[in-house]
Amino acid sequence: MGRRKSKRKPPPRKKNIEPLDTQFNCPFCNHEKSCEVKMDKGRSAARITCRVCAEDFQTTINLLSEPLDVYNDWVDACDTAN
Ligand SMILES: [Zn+2]
Repeated sequence: MGRRKSKRKPPPRKKNIEPLDTQFNCPFCNHEKSCEVKMDKGRSAARITCRVCAEDFQTTINLLSEPLDVYNDWVDACDTAN
């Protein structure tokens, strides 16, 4: 009986060396990568600002928050406002 050994590849490890993207497309003026996220984990606050149309948004974060979360919060807030 030849029982097949399944060779499962181990899941790829997340690389932590790549810097996180902190620039996103603006939901207001639609410029690409014009919005920059600044994380202030010491104060549990983050701010995202568009350098083209000067829209900005502040939200609270936690230690696990990433710039993308801040951006998503902003887009969500925009959707709610509309
Ligand atoms: Zn903008």
